[in-house]
Amino acid sequence: MSVRVRFAPSPTGQVHIGNIRAAIFNWLYARHTGGAFLLRIEDTDRERSTPEAIRTLLDVMEWLGMTSDEPPVYQSACTERHLEVAEAMVAAGTAYREDRDGKGECIVCRMPESGRLEFTDAVKGRIRKQAEDLQDFVIVRSDGTPVFHLANVVDDHDMRITHVIRGDDHVENTFKHLQIFRAMGAEPPIYAHLPMIVNHMGKPYSKRDGAAFVGDFQAQGFLPEALFNFLALLGWAPGDDREIMTRGEMVEAFDLDRCKSSAARFDLKKLTWMNGEYLRRLPRETLDAAFRERLAAGGLDPASVTDEVWNAILDLMIPRTKIFGEVPGNCAYFFTDDFAFDPRAVEKRLRPEGTRERLLKVAETFESLPAFTLESTEAALRALGESMATGIGSLVHPVRVAVSGMTEGPGLFEMLVLLGRERVCARLRQAVRMAG
Ligand code: GLU
Repeated sequence: MSVRVRFAPSPTGQVHIGNIRAAIFNWLYARHTGGAFLLRIEDTDRERSTPEAIRTLLDVMEWLGMTSDEPPVYQSACTERHLEVAEAMVAAGTAYREDRDGKGECIVCRMPESGRLEFTDAVKGRIRKQAEDLQDFVIVRSDGTPVFHLANVVDDHDMRITHVIRGDDHVENTFKHLQIFRAMGAEPPIYAHLPMIVNHMGKPYSKRDGAAFVGDFQAQGFLPEALFNFLALLGWAPGDDREIMTRGEMVEAFDLDRCKSSAARFDLKKLTWMNGEYLRRLPRETLDAAFRERLAAGGLDPASVTDEVWNAILDLMIPRTKIFGEVPGNCAYFFTDDFAFDPRAVEKRLRPEGTRERLLKVAETFESLPAFTLESTEAALRALGESMATGIGSLVHPVRVAVSGMTEGPGLFEMLVLLGRERVCARLRQAVRMAG
């Protein structure tokens, strides 16, 4: 029997990384087994499932390169079928009508009264529960609308889903879902519950911990391939120490029995590192265009420098860029004199006593150099450091902050030469005002 899996999100307007991780695992499993990856939009909450929310969801999936192999199923279009199953359950005695809240009759699914319920989860193994701990539950509300459990199971049945791969917040629900399958006289799918994504404290990862929606990462300039690769490793590992993997490699190595049951820690540093690895593999034209676009969006004009300088800036900055979102902040000083000074850098490198004299000395020395080159600027600072008996270190750091506003960046002398003597000296003199 060929594998049929589905991603069954409830569109809310933003797509949480935990949800899209489930989509990725389903997609990988479908591709690995040669099966079908389907999309079911659980849009029964009409208030939240707006056309825009559905659009956002489809856009995110497309951005990550996952599309449904069959036309998406809209759950709200299947209500009649859900109710038909509920009626059949009432007729068979596996469900009954009851007025639970004084608002009219609901349909309630009967759970076994005694004994043990269990199922084998493809990730978590055997999961058990005593029947006494499970109550009968509503499947159709008194207003006649089907409840999630019913809709979810009937649709999985009708879509002939073989494996339900989803977040482990649904483990408890699975006992109910299996009961409905039983009532329908149908073979249930295999359930595979993916471990929770947690923060560095081991608590469920939420938007309080930072970016939690795919759109946030998109806006910060993360690359879809990097995010996909990173999320694929949240709860799965290929069985060796590979981390950066092509999609083909992931598809080949993916299997449910290599999924982990222990919580998966969301490590933004790792994602950022991974993104840098992907970014540097992009063709130069793509990087060039992305840098231009990001600079322009940051109010900077890439055309304010010559092509030669532009290419030299790219050579310097590409190896230092992990996400495109950092580009304007990290490169501003190449394009404007009006760049921001990191207050901590000013405090540490410009404020200390004696910096003022040193910066002025450096400016004078640079102004008197016959040529302003990598070699001449470095030799000049070295000689000056020796003559002042403070060493080159006491000059390099303040000079860097004076011309760029930051303590980090490309090699100082490369940076100075690219900026050009005039601008460097003007900035050194300008920074004197902030210096101690
Ligand atoms: N709409 C449910 C959710 O987003 C579906 C769960 C499932 O995959 O069965 O959590």
